[in-house]
Amino acid sequence: MAIMEETLTKEPVVPQTPHAPRIAMLGISKGPGGDIVSRFLFRMVRPNRECLPPAVMHTFEHLLTAYMRDAVDGFIDISPMGCRTGFILTVWGEPAESDIKKALVNSLKRTISTEWGKIPGVSEFECSNYRDHSLYGAKKYSLQILEGLFNK
Ligand SMILES: [Zn+2]
Repeated sequence: MAIMEETLTKEPVVPQTPHAPRIAMLGISKGPGGDIVSRFLFRMVRPNRECLPPAVMHTFEHLLTAYMRDAVDGFIDISPMGCRTGFILTVWGEPAESDIKKALVNSLKRTISTEWGKIPGVSEFECSNYRDHSLYGAKKYSLQILEGLFNK
């Protein structure tokens, strides 16, 4: 139990401000070999007010993984948050927040122009829940998030 508590306290605290959409640097970790890993919050909707439907999160997971890998040097992963309000991006090094924002904006624009047959990894053999996707929803939220990112 003590080990579990210690592990939990080391997790970065994700600020619960209702402001969304937004992009924020969460923290930097340094490995024993001196490697640096940065984590960014990509909050899509307001915490404890809204959440994305599971099918929309799932489609975003497939698309943002592919599009952010193309756009960000040192990309490691973009992981859906269990609360379904957004994603956590993990990258090697210390990229500028403005570069991460540009990459996310570009990935949302690519999402809007994506056709169903072009989503990576959604066949029955590649995806573990291939029926649970909503490209329509991902496009709808992409428009809402882009509007929110630029109208502040
Ligand atoms: Zn999948």
